[in-house]
Amino acid sequence: MEGKDVISGSAFADIISGSRRTVLAVHTHPDGDAIGCGTGLLHFIREVLGKRAVLAVPDAIPDNLLFLLEGLGDSVLVHDSRPEETEKAIAEADLIIGMDISGFDRTGPLKSFLHSSKARKILIDHHLNPDTDAFDVAFSDTEVSSSCELLYRILSDTVQIHGDASLLPLPAATALMTGMTTDTNNFANSVFPGTLRMASDLLSSGVDREMIIDNVYHAYRENRIRLLGFLLYDRLGITPSGAAYMVLTRKEMEDFGISEAETEGFVNIPLSIGKVKISIFLREEDGFFRVSVRSKKGISANALAMKYFNGGGHELAAGGKLFLSEEIRSGKNAEDYVVRVTGEYLEGR
Ligand code: 5GP
Ligand code: MN
Repeated sequence: MEGKDVISGSAFADIISGSRRTVLAVHTHPDGDAIGCGTGLLHFIREVLGKRAVLAVPDAIPDNLLFLLEGLGDSVLVHDSRPEETEKAIAEADLIIGMDISGFDRTGPLKSFLHSSKARKILIDHHLNPDTDAFDVAFSDTEVSSSCELLYRILSDTVQIHGDASLLPLPAATALMTGMTTDTNNFANSVFPGTLRMASDLLSSGVDREMIIDNVYHAYRENRIRLLGFLLYDRLGITPSGAAYMVLTRKEMEDFGISEAETEGFVNIPLSIGKVKISIFLREEDGFFRVSVRSKKGISANALAMKYFNGGGHELAAGGKLFLSEEIRSGKNAEDYVVRVTGEYLEGR
């Protein structure tokens, strides 16, 4: 683990115990890892340390992750629905813990409040190029499956847990297992020896993996699967150099009655085609296209996202945004851009 200030799990727990108002903050469009490590740490703070804390989430939490909020009530604040309370909690915090973010730039509407806060700041993250200057203490490691795995390691290193996963409150253990499961795509990628040790420890301590899988992967609405079918049949393009791409416009989302969170996971599917080396999914938002990139070993999704899509992430899973001026903002022009830059990227390597 590298960091500007390396501290033990116990020292981390002591900092929380010694703080009056702790706020945990995660990234926009929160995924299983963000909500998993956020709620997992929240349970630890409440049930093990006996302290209160708030989890600040920039925007809506996908329906398939809502089971992780059970019992947490008002200690989870979503900025979209409760902006004033969320901003007030950040303004009053004396400890801020950024989780599953490479920096506060990933927190959308929370960014300016987090940046300007004078609170002590701790980072727990597994992305490339973390903005460690913005934090007093940084737990940063890219050789883990997820922020949940990194948090598991930190909590295991506290005097309270002391390497015994059965001492974690069950909801915390469930949350950590959930985030690790979604960030590894259910053990398909980014699995390290420590990932399987963690899975084994958490299973032994009573985590119900079937329940997690049912909530996360078996509870979609029919519309999502119909839309996926349409995109794969009618829209999927594959370039000669092995880039697969799909562009989803707002009009199509409306036609299928689909929300933004329901397209999660679409980008992974074209990678199952042998000749595809990189898969790119674009979804139109207000004034830009949100971009998801996934690649196979040897091709950097992170470098492509940084170079062409104002983003970044991990070596094989990254994201960003594509801005096209209003006059030329169309699904077709977005496709043309993707075809051009992936050609340049894959052939110019
Ligand atoms: P997803 O495609 O699932 O939205 O994101 C994949 C990975 O890329 C995640 O680890 C996420 O943190 C990162 N990512 C997504 N969007 C952005 C972005 O706009 N900027 C940066 N730096 N990373 C992003
Ligand atoms: Mn993550």
